[in-house]
Amino acid sequence: MASRRDDDDAAHHEHGSELSETQVRVRALESVLVEKGYVDPAALDRLIETYETRVGPHIGAQVVARAWAEREFAAQLFEETPAALASLGIAGGQGENMVALENTPAVHNMVVCTLCSCYPWALLGLPPVWYKSAPYRARAVADPRGVLRDFGVELGAEVQIRVWDSTSEIRYLVVPMRPEHTDGWSEAELAALVTRDSMIGTGLAKQPAESATR
Ligand code: FE
Repeated sequence: MASRRDDDDAAHHEHGSELSETQVRVRALESVLVEKGYVDPAALDRLIETYETRVGPHIGAQVVARAWAEREFAAQLFEETPAALASLGIAGGQGENMVALENTPAVHNMVVCTLCSCYPWALLGLPPVWYKSAPYRARAVADPRGVLRDFGVELGAEVQIRVWDSTSEIRYLVVPMRPEHTDGWSEAELAALVTRDSMIGTGLAKQPAESATR
């Protein structure tokens, strides 16, 4: 999706500033909060560092790879997602409930937050700009097949598309279908096939030929 609604990059040069309007506002707010002692700048840095480097789609990809590799883990993941994640040492970011959704030849799951931008941060890191855009949020519900087409995904008419609306209480993880011809692959090799978009449901897992690890 090519919406730039939440993207300030395009506009900020017009103001003759290195910073976008949003960045200026954020900095101003941060200075005030630090000045008044409400936030500790070091803690803020750690939080940002966490979401920029430690937490990201590679976490979700490990979960998906484990589910592909181990039938028992997959069963638990779809039955009681938080417990399965906990067994890998992953806790839901803000204590929200996590639900894993299984893609099959008959059902393709896709996630949106129609209200704002709720997203499984603990598994996927920060949401992409398009996820927060108004066109995605509206069209994912009204025309999911069209949205998928925009993402380059063409599903057969026999595939049912289920759209899940995340909230502050429930975050979803899509487990894409395991690509064929990956028998005997290690979990690390499998994880390299799992893209962020495939875990939101706007993409599919990569094919073995597209993988750099084999
Ligand atoms: Fe939201």
